[in-house]
Amino acid sequence: MQGDQEPLGEFDLIDRYFASGRPGASGAPGTPGAQVANRRTDVILGIGDDAALLRCLEGSDLVAAVDTLVAGRHFPEGSAPRSIGHRSLAVNLSDLAAMGATPAWATLALTLPSAERSWLEGFSAGFMELAAAHGVELVGGDTTAGPLTISVQILGQVERGSALRRGGAQPGDVLAVTGTLGDAGAGLALVTGQATAEDRVAAAELIERFEYPMPRVQFGSSARGIASAAMDLSDGLAGDLPKFARASGLAAHVDVGRLPLSGALRSSATVAQAREWALAAGDDYELLVAVPAQRFDELAAVASRLNLTFTAIGDLRRGTGITWALDGQPFAAPARGYDHFR
Ligand code: ADP
Ligand code: MG
Repeated sequence: MQGDQEPLGEFDLIDRYFASGRPGASGAPGTPGAQVANRRTDVILGIGDDAALLRCLEGSDLVAAVDTLVAGRHFPEGSAPRSIGHRSLAVNLSDLAAMGATPAWATLALTLPSAERSWLEGFSAGFMELAAAHGVELVGGDTTAGPLTISVQILGQVERGSALRRGGAQPGDVLAVTGTLGDAGAGLALVTGQATAEDRVAAAELIERFEYPMPRVQFGSSARGIASAAMDLSDGLAGDLPKFARASGLAAHVDVGRLPLSGALRSSATVAQAREWALAAGDDYELLVAVPAQRFDELAAVASRLNLTFTAIGDLRRGTGITWALDGQPFAAPARGYDHFR
């Protein structure tokens, strides 16, 4: 056993923080006290071999997504490691939620400037807690030294042919969103000092929405067969809605006055600022959904069972482009969402 002050090697690090006590990981016995994550019976071979072996359900489609978080770009340098661990998985779970898929397995490519125990403890706790909450098992990864970058690949399953897509919306569909928008944008502005809030309880709530987003996995899965299209909101409605509408070959109309804004956001900012965050800031990880008007109530009932609000904000129409209105007047939406190469 190694002393707690000695530097961690690559394989000690994997065993201690990510192998979940799985015997045989990196050839060493599992470390007692390591994070205990889900052990799925469909994992034939998890961490410790050259690749994972996973057994897919009969009659299912395999659903795969990957997302990378880069320090200073996707989260402020010096963010709580637990939040970084949580978010790195949450953003991927959100992609599966948007497909209506059930997540099952994840791999983690971790690039770290140094193997610091306290950072790794926080990071793995944030990652593993969210994984356990969704029944996801970490089945492999890669660990390298370099500038802090976290790539997570998520794999999940969905009943064959039933996945939700961006492109299925029909003219006349209601456009709706889960939860509230703009909270994470406000939270990030509070974390970075670009905004201040007098109401400390509200500020803490907004920061929590940025640091610990809750992917809408159950809602997405339950929306299959009811919604006609879905996508997750990672870049802000103003940036994401054009992609959504284009995928269905339709135009979209949004009544900006109907954007769901949380109490915490309303008490911390002017309505204009709150709307700006809701439209342009991103990081909310709510689901944007198109649903036939006659089935809206059905989907709202699904949301309500999950303690989630579900708000109609507009509709889809024949044509192209997005129109925004406020109090019956045309509204100039803020600049598009984030683009890494612009
Ligand atoms: P290889 O050289 O064959 O790619 P490695 O020596 O990099 O394997 O990794 C050993 C085992 O540990 C592999 O099963 C790999 O999937 C797993 N692993 C490496 N890094 C991580 C990590 N950050 N999280 C989870 N598993 C990891
Ligand atoms: Mg490797």
